[in-house]
Amino acid sequence: MTKIQLLPTSVINKIAAGEVIERPASVVKELIENSVDAGSARIDVSIQQGGSELIRITDDGCGISADQLPLAVASHATSKIANADDLFQVATLGFRGEALASISEVSHLRIRSRTEASSCGSELDIRGGEQSDIAPCPSSPGTSIELRNLFFNTPVRRKFLRTTQTEMGHISEAFTRVALGHEQIHFTLQHNDRVIYDLPPAERWHDRLATLFGRELAEDLLWVESQEGGVELAGYVADPKHSRSNNRMQYMLLNCRYIRDRSLSHALSEAYRGLLLTGRFPIAFLKLSMPPETIDVNVHPTKLEVRFQDGGAVYRQLLGTLRTRFLTADLTKHVGNSAESMSQNASLSTPAAPNYNVSNNVFGLSARSTISTPNRLAGSTVPGVAVARQQGQLDLPPAPHATTSSDNESVAAVGPFPAMIPPATIPPEGLGAGYVGQPTQEQGDQAMQLHNRYLITECNEGVVVIDQHALHERILYEELREKVLAEEIEVQRLLVPEPIQLSAEEAAAVLDAKETVAKLGIEIEPFGGNTVVISAYPAMLANFRPDEVVRQVASRLTDAGEKSPERRDILDDLLHMISCKAAIKAGDHLTRVEMRALLSRRHLVQDSHHCPHGRPTTLVFTNEQLDRHFQRT
Ligand code: ADP
Ligand code: MG
Repeated sequence: MTKIQLLPTSVINKIAAGEVIERPASVVKELIENSVDAGSARIDVSIQQGGSELIRITDDGCGISADQLPLAVASHATSKIANADDLFQVATLGFRGEALASISEVSHLRIRSRTEASSCGSELDIRGGEQSDIAPCPSSPGTSIELRNLFFNTPVRRKFLRTTQTEMGHISEAFTRVALGHEQIHFTLQHNDRVIYDLPPAERWHDRLATLFGRELAEDLLWVESQEGGVELAGYVADPKHSRSNNRMQYMLLNCRYIRDRSLSHALSEAYRGLLLTGRFPIAFLKLSMPPETIDVNVHPTKLEVRFQDGGAVYRQLLGTLRTRFLTADLTKHVGNSAESMSQNASLSTPAAPNYNVSNNVFGLSARSTISTPNRLAGSTVPGVAVARQQGQLDLPPAPHATTSSDNESVAAVGPFPAMIPPATIPPEGLGAGYVGQPTQEQGDQAMQLHNRYLITECNEGVVVIDQHALHERILYEELREKVLAEEIEVQRLLVPEPIQLSAEEAAAVLDAKETVAKLGIEIEPFGGNTVVISAYPAMLANFRPDEVVRQVASRLTDAGEKSPERRDILDDLLHMISCKAAIKAGDHLTRVEMRALLSRRHLVQDSHHCPHGRPTTLVFTNEQLDRHFQRT
């Protein structure tokens, strides 16, 4: 056995850096947080080449005096706590006193700082932990930290840096998380001398949200607030017409610190249950305030996760507040306005229900709780059914969504929806939304693409508007599902299996679901540690990098919520993900041939006799509706 010895400080700092400083974004996070803690009114962040060349952060905070500068970069030196009791009363973002020490160990760092009391600034240079003498320098009150050559002496870390764009994405996210929690501070972010964000101090939090995430989303946010015990909850949640494919647009700030918390994410999903399609995640910006002694922020190296004294109570409060809010919100007003005004003239009395799906699963046969309206299925001239007949599928029940009113005036989509949601909260898709109105070949040939997003064509009944992405996604989903059931997925084998480094949680989730994932043609094996290797993946995704596909699968599996979902739900979820990924996007220009090809495969969606999945693909305006609207009748 070799001798046990104490490690030199520089090694200790490098080890600490390994935990806290993973990439340029981690540096940016730590430095901005220091500037916030220094009471700054303005913080400017300037980045060159995704942070691999330069990270500069300038603030107008309290500054560091010359005699304190060496301490600032010493490990376990902080001005923010003094004793162990303070650890449970943390009111600042930092408190461990190791960020500057770690960063200065793995980069070339220059700190210039001046306190209000002193007439000139002082400067300290550190290269890989080696400190220069402190020299006077011109400086306005505050601190400016400049960092070059990050990871110059830890080549392995440097090698792991991704493209400039990817690193900048992480930096932007780190910046956003701090800027969101401190709207009274003026923040700017520049990359290669281009201004990415300029966020003036905002009087209302809503203004900061609007500058960070866009007016369009900001306008569709609902205010929520509640106070229970010592816990104050306040913020915004998005109208369900906005959602994301992962939970990254859920910003939770606990005492102004951005945190991730699976349980709170789960509460959000629960609150939106039935309001969002499967696989979609709500958007939320929530501030939680509670006494510092009721939380432990010292459980995660970058303090991204915290421990609540009573997590259950916080969960219930969040869920309860949102549920109450949704019950009183008139969500219908925000959605489908044009369709609403149309319906004023139409005679259909039952608004079409959206295709919100409750529990889709690949192997179909989930409960089909269609709304049953008397006479809706009467009449055999229902176009959707007629199409099915031509194709000799009479033995199948008509698609639940292809129904019509008794007088055949209009065709509406009817899908299953959870009974627990009060009808008022279900936005109407609008009259005429349906899956019928298949254009004939000739009609399809005349289809037009608008805004590189919608296809417009005529059908015998009227005018059809098709969402190109939604339709393609649905078609691919149906095709893929058939293939999975028949075990006929086309796979592309990799000549050399590609190793992919995941988080421990992701690696475990992916390997757990290995067999299910293999059904989709994605073959994954363990490779030791948190690395997996991929040896084959679906040919449909040939345009995507295998590691990207696996990462998405992994994030799907880990984002899904607390409980591990049913195997078939996982498969279905992944089918959705793959179809969505492989489908043409809104914004893609289609040639005439492509439009024709897409429309000619439309029957695959129409004739499917199981529950509809995903959002509607098509809107049909019947001739009768149009005539009535334009007062022709
Ligand atoms: P921590 O933030 O956990 O205290 P750091 O290593 O990040 O540890 O910083 C060490 C100390 O340096 C801080 O406690 C603070 O006193 C000082 N400091 C760092 N950055 C700034 C800044 N921008 N303005 C004023 N003081 C700073
Ligand atoms: Mg700090």
